[in-house]
Amino acid sequence: MKKIFLLVLDGLGDRPNKELGNRTALQAAYRPNLNRLTRTGLGGLMHPITPGYRTGSDTSHLSLLGYDPEKFYTGRGPFEAMGLGMKVLGGDVAFRANFGTTDDSGIVVDRRAGRITEGTKDLAEALSFSVDGVEFFVKAGVEHRAALVMRGERLSDRITDSDPHEPGLKVHEVKPLDQGGEYTAKVLNRYLAEARKILSEHPVNRNRNGNGEPAANELLVRGPGLAPRLTPFSDLHGLRGASISGIPMITGICQLVGMDKIEVEGATGRLDSNFSAKFKAAYKVLEEYDFLIMNIKATDVAGHDGDAVAKRDAIQRIDRAMSGIFEHLDDVVICVTGDHSTPCSLKDHSGDALPILFNTSGIRVDKARLYDEVSCSGGSYHITSGDVMKVLLQLSDRAEKYGA
Ligand code: ZN
Ligand code: ZN
Repeated sequence: MKKIFLLVLDGLGDRPNKELGNRTALQAAYRPNLNRLTRTGLGGLMHPITPGYRTGSDTSHLSLLGYDPEKFYTGRGPFEAMGLGMKVLGGDVAFRANFGTTDDSGIVVDRRAGRITEGTKDLAEALSFSVDGVEFFVKAGVEHRAALVMRGERLSDRITDSDPHEPGLKVHEVKPLDQGGEYTAKVLNRYLAEARKILSEHPVNRNRNGNGEPAANELLVRGPGLAPRLTPFSDLHGLRGASISGIPMITGICQLVGMDKIEVEGATGRLDSNFSAKFKAAYKVLEEYDFLIMNIKATDVAGHDGDAVAKRDAIQRIDRAMSGIFEHLDDVVICVTGDHSTPCSLKDHSGDALPILFNTSGIRVDKARLYDEVSCSGGSYHITSGDVMKVLLQLSDRAEKYGA
């Protein structure tokens, strides 16, 4: 049985760009390795989740890994916490949070604590403790932003926000939305009261008071989401999996399904990421694991910037970095696709389908010749992201027989 290498070029799909002679970034890129993989293997188009959906990276990656987001996606809270690099486990409840400023009577005077820039890391650390056996973890983000994760038994996201969402109002007591939320609301209110005390006495806030700056004396929480309890990837597919990604949210999703994360030095999740180091690490990981998902974010970053030339150049550098793949095709099935399209002309995700290729030694060959949105449409597969694992299991001779 062969190993599986799922290479996700984030936001890969594109639309024609004027500055590239009305070609997509892929069409304009010099990409001999991607083309050779397509020419000697199978191509097609892949729709993220379902045709016409405009998806985020979180929902798309869940779907690519074989988890139906329509069943399991519980809102952004847990995924934003993962995005800050927090560990989130199934059954945790995660919130988006702000450091805010309240007056003596608990009225919010500034929801952003003067857009505080320094000291939030220390404040977050001071707010990570347990109440009644429930663990609370806080991590600071950019400026006043943060995330809160609750970990314990019987937690529910059926509760209201403490954040009143506008200044001039009192910090809300967290209320249960139904019976299931009663316990979580009670513990969270106790935690927030304790947090208030800690924040008011914290040296960071004493300094801010001394300097006449608004104190970050309240953690305002909103948008609770219960992290889904997902069947471990190894049970779902019978594969020992690992992930390589410079994006904490993607790593977080892979951890949520029980994969190991492999850190690669220089994998930044930006345009300057060290692609060669990532591929080198990938081939090594595949010696040990059955399955590797590797996300390269640069293509999505360039798409959001609306920079077609940067997107083309990122593809060229990725193509160059992956030239070693041909030595591994006796043992590995490779799939190259994206999680969604990020057309430079849109500067955001679109619902356009994107190219997909499969290759391994002994594979059939179809009519797709070049790796791009147009040529791959002439290939064998017209599938959704939810089909990708099934095709990979089949091509690696791991699929179970359906029927006698
Ligand atoms: Zn994405
Ligand atoms: Zn994006």
